[in-house]
Amino acid sequence: MGGFVFSRRVAVHACALWGLVSLWPLGASAQTVGDEVGGGGCSTAVVRGLADQLVGQLNCLYPDTMEPFDEGGQIEFASGAVLGNLQPGAIDGLMAALDDRAGSTITITSALRSLPQQYLLYQWYLAGRCGIQIAASPGRSNHEGGLAIDVSNHDAWRNALENNGWDWYGSGDVVHFTYVRAGEDIRSASVLSFQTLWNANHPNDAIDEDGLYGPQTEARLGRSPVGGFEIATTCNPCAQGMHARFDSAQAPPEAVVGGEVTISASFTNTGDATWVAGQVSLATNPPVALGADVIDGGSTTFTHSFVPAAEGPATIALGLVDAGGAPIPAGCEGAPTGEVTVTVLPAADPPDDPSDPDDPVDGSPDDPAPDDGDDLDGDPMVDGSGAPGESSRAVGLAGGCGTSGPLGKEPPVAVLLLMGLGLALVRRR
Ligand SMILES: [Zn+2]
Repeated sequence: MGGFVFSRRVAVHACALWGLVSLWPLGASAQTVGDEVGGGGCSTAVVRGLADQLVGQLNCLYPDTMEPFDEGGQIEFASGAVLGNLQPGAIDGLMAALDDRAGSTITITSALRSLPQQYLLYQWYLAGRCGIQIAASPGRSNHEGGLAIDVSNHDAWRNALENNGWDWYGSGDVVHFTYVRAGEDIRSASVLSFQTLWNANHPNDAIDEDGLYGPQTEARLGRSPVGGFEIATTCNPCAQGMHARFDSAQAPPEAVVGGEVTISASFTNTGDATWVAGQVSLATNPPVALGADVIDGGSTTFTHSFVPAAEGPATIALGLVDAGGAPIPAGCEGAPTGEVTVTVLPAADPPDDPSDPDDPVDGSPDDPAPDDGDDLDGDPMVDGSGAPGESSRAVGLAGGCGTSGPLGKEPPVAVLLLMGLGLALVRRR
């Protein structure tokens, strides 16, 4: 089994995979936010999937209002429940406090909170559970607007924070600091983020998009899946995350068995995530890893070489996969995949085949001089028995995934007669 044939099989398989991926449900989960009220736990990390979606939706509705900050250095997140986002002014105030206490670590138990997180904390507080001193009702917490942090080592950090715009709540909620020097009061943003995302996923059960937390909103929140909705955002989902557009491919129109063939394929990053070198590959056999990062809007070209082992038309599917092998899907425009077809001709001088009446045994090496495929140069024909009118191998016009046909097993004579006539067509799309 030659590498070329195998390569084409992989291409067909990859196409089937792309079809499957589009059918997979996203973010489906049976567990609901309401289940977690009496679930026995005390960490809002259980709703992290939904919380992350709602942060994305908040950024969609209020662009440039929230900024991320990372754990590391002097900052420690107490748990997986912490969303590392605050308003830009609050982040400046936090960084200034860190500078004042260089070398010390601040342990943050909460920063930005999404609506389901505030809901759970409030329910647990009402039930007298989890040792929660006080909790604002959903839609009323400064955490939901990205202007508050809870700090477990608050005694050590109180002065530095207060000197940089952070107001300590006091003995009623000793871990809580509110940023008061700058920022917008967008506590209702967490409610509106939920309402808009709920409606996008439940057009037949739509609720008011007013940013007000009431019974309608609370009932839907309780029924929401902790892992997130199927539709993750209302902001151009086709532009968010990893997306690709196939632009073009280059390939020689024809090749010969045993000779190296090099093809290239160009793609554009149409998502908003950077393609990281080594993490994205052209799904050929073998795969071709991305050599350098490609930012959103950027383009790149992959080069793939192989040695065909069998003659005939060969269609190679061209698509990208991520580090986990999942196909990178289409963005808002353009197809993510393409294909290229190369016509593979027999080797210049096929070995003698005693069983083939068209190939007389003439010793080895077979012929006085290799036939270079150009019959205008006076090279002796391997044999003269081929008749005009044999079917040609001009191929490559079949479109779509999985259309690479079986290799034709035609007599070499037909091919030799037709060499040099521009048999091959390369399909691009
Ligand atoms: Zn707090």
